[in-house]
Amino acid sequence: LTKEKVDIQKIISDVVKLFQNQMKLNHIELEIDIVQDLPLTKGDPTSLRQIFINLIENAIQAMSKGGSLLITGVREGNFIKIEIADTGEGIPEEYLPRIFEPFFTTKTNGTGLGLAVTYGIIKKHKGKLLVDSKINEGTTFTILLPVEA
Ligand code: ADP
Ligand code: MG
Repeated sequence: LTKEKVDIQKIISDVVKLFQNQMKLNHIELEIDIVQDLPLTKGDPTSLRQIFINLIENAIQAMSKGGSLLITGVREGNFIKIEIADTGEGIPEEYLPRIFEPFFTTKTNGTGLGLAVTYGIIKKHKGKLLVDSKINEGTTFTILLPVEA
């Protein structure tokens, strides 16, 4: 794992491009609201990129009937705070404690590894990953990553 200055804003706009067609086909509206001067973080760009691939992929899969995806980014103290909010099916309360476990999946073709890997990457970067979800309303994942000192 390399440790270098990473521009999360740039990573997000690159990852979003990968999913643009899929979102259009699924009638998912995208809004990105990231502050211009979002600080850099320090870490491994390839794994940090994987975080957003995993979370955006899950969000799209949760909105099979369309919806909206909102990605926000601000500084909060010594952290960069990114929120990824979908208006999808939501996560049943009884599943919430298990979603970060490896191999936990509710999908017929799921691996159950996306969130476990994401959690591991964020932990390695001394960050935090939080979830807030309401069935039939949507899910918000909050990522906190340390500001590059
Ligand atoms: P997979 O996508 O292969 O199922 P993940 O680790 O990425 O594995 O996610 C685990 C489970 O968490 C999913 O199967 C799903 O039940 C739930 N989940 C994750 N993200 C969302 C989301 N944005 N909306 C609804 N459910 C979600
Ligand atoms: Mg997944």
